[in-house]
Amino acid sequence: MANLVYSQILFKMSEEIFIEPRYAIQHRKGWIEVVCGSMFSGKTEELIRRLNRAKIAGQSVEIFKPSIDTRYDETSVVSHNDNAISSTPIHSSLNILLMRNQATVVGIDEAQFFDNELLYVCQTLAEQGVRVIVAGLDMDYLGNPFGPMPNLMAVAEYVTKVHAICMVCGDLATHSFRKHKDQSLIMLGEKDTYEARCRHCFQIGMKETELKNH
Ligand SMILES: [Zn+2]
Repeated sequence: MANLVYSQILFKMSEEIFIEPRYAIQHRKGWIEVVCGSMFSGKTEELIRRLNRAKIAGQSVEIFKPSIDTRYDETSVVSHNDNAISSTPIHSSLNILLMRNQATVVGIDEAQFFDNELLYVCQTLAEQGVRVIVAGLDMDYLGNPFGPMPNLMAVAEYVTKVHAICMVCGDLATHSFRKHKDQSLIMLGEKDTYEARCRHCFQIGMKETELKNH
């Protein structure tokens, strides 16, 4: 009996975790949601899922991404499972305020590559009544907070950390481990360049890289 109640509570909790905030029709207030995590954690998939649901609810949706990320396509947010929504690539985050078309929901992908003005841009949009959904890497390849992400996480109403699976031990992964020695902060790539790792396996990998370089 106790087990049954417990499993019901767990089910209720798991249900609530994945229900994102929605607009009440009567009073349109804006807010900021952040979806963050390591490489291969499904951030873009989660962004697209939320935007698709907003579209189904009859809301207008726009997406912006930094023009630096041209891995797949100039005009689409493309996640690793090909579930794409078209978007506008831009050079500077302030252009979001200039280029947006009165959408009620604005998605921003690969937000870690934007300048720090993105904080001001998201706050301004939220104050204008826009639901802002920001997806990005929370940490760079050294395990440090990445670009405007920590500030956005601080001011957001809702923060969701999604996890990958550690490719060394199979635990939940939070870090993006770079397999090559390249020192530049921005290095796009996929499975040949990065590995999702848990904190423990990430630190072991970093020490091994250090030893190799000395
Ligand atoms: Zn691990």
